[in-house]
Amino acid sequence: MHDVMIVGAGPAGTAAAWDLLAAGCSVLLADKCDFPRKKACAGGITPKTLNLFRYDISPVIRRSCDRVRIGALGQKDFFIQGKGPLCHMTRREELDTFNLAQVIKLGARFEQIGPVSSVTESLSHVTVRTGGQQSGNGAGDGARYQARYLIGADGANSVIRRLILKHPKIMKSFAVEADVDIKNPMHQEMTFDFVPGLKGYYWVFPRDDHVNIGIYTLNGPKSNSMERLKRYALKRLGTHRLENIRGYPLGLGGYRHNPSARRVLLAGDAAGMCEPLLGEGLYGAVKSGQGAATAVIQALGGVTAGASGHYRTGLNRLKKDLLLYELSSRWFYRFPGMSLTLLSKPRIHQRFSHGFSDGLSLSQILKL
Ligand SMILES: Cc1cc2nc3c(=O)[nH]c(=O)nc-3n(C[C@H](O)[C@H](O)[C@H](O)COP(=O)(O)OP(=O)(O)OC[C@H]3O[C@@H](n4cnc5c(N)ncnc54)[C@H](O)[C@@H]3O)c2cc1C
Repeated sequence: MHDVMIVGAGPAGTAAAWDLLAAGCSVLLADKCDFPRKKACAGGITPKTLNLFRYDISPVIRRSCDRVRIGALGQKDFFIQGKGPLCHMTRREELDTFNLAQVIKLGARFEQIGPVSSVTESLSHVTVRTGGQQSGNGAGDGARYQARYLIGADGANSVIRRLILKHPKIMKSFAVEADVDIKNPMHQEMTFDFVPGLKGYYWVFPRDDHVNIGIYTLNGPKSNSMERLKRYALKRLGTHRLENIRGYPLGLGGYRHNPSARRVLLAGDAAGMCEPLLGEGLYGAVKSGQGAATAVIQALGGVTAGASGHYRTGLNRLKKDLLLYELSSRWFYRFPGMSLTLLSKPRIHQRFSHGFSDGLSLSQILKL
């Protein structure tokens, strides 16, 4: 039996795996996909997220941007300049494959699994069944895994969440992204365009050999997202030829997450750890993955509060940040015009841009 089974080998799952392995735990990391696999994500890594990684991820950084253009589709554009990089651009399939390679090197066992059909907790361990109907004491035509703890890091549509929580509903936003092959992508600016009514924004993330664009919205998926994205590409980049179009929900509301299961913890989007203002989820994924690992290590070491208790305490700072983002996003998207006017004042945005490029979190910048 493994000490820990982790379902989901995205950033939350691999971050948890790395810390558990470094502490000497045995880890089974399971994913429905084999890697490399595609994942809808712009792959923007802020300095505070970069600082969380336990190893150097520079081999998968394709470009770093130290300024960002903010606007409303070409009107009122202004620039926010960091003291250093504000965002590092990666491709998610490369980042995730790189992370997985690091944890396999450290001793994780990786397995591609079928659909998880049940999770059962006992006093000493957790049993995860996949595939077909379970029969009697066996696993039917599926597979059965046992571990002392389970970490559900299977993203915004988490099956583990649905199987272990009485009220598994989670708040979600939605984003769609595409790659655009253009001449001189290095000349493009990192851009956020806020549009009234969208409750979100369009983005341009320039990488080394192409540009990634997308729409982030709190309004939920819309059938005309692709048309809107094409119109945006035409306006900002002069072309509507989009490639690799992908959309996916983002898991929000983690400021309310209250771990309660004895041997199962949720991390990343599965626990709603994405912030709602800009949809930055990689920070919350890595941070909560590491927090879940610490909680399990403490519980395995016999510290009495149990894994959920340790995790609750460990999540406090992240939850505070997520609450601040929740309040900011409510304000920002209720009054987008006024918010942009305020943000355009150097006195206001410099505090944020300098703090973000220094790798500070929102609560650290606001000194709360
Ligand atoms: C279009 C888009 C753009 C984004 N851009 C950014 C950005 O630039 N910067 C940023 O910080 N955040 C961004 N985000 C948010 C970010 O992608 C997520 O917050 C982040 O991926 C969450 O990481 P995670 O490890 O929790 O989950 P995921 O990355 O979703 O990983 C979950 C893993 O679990 C696996 N899985 C799912 N279900 C099962 C199952 N039933 N059984 C087994 N395995 C399963 C999946 O294959 C996957 O490997 C974006 C999101 C979207 C949709």
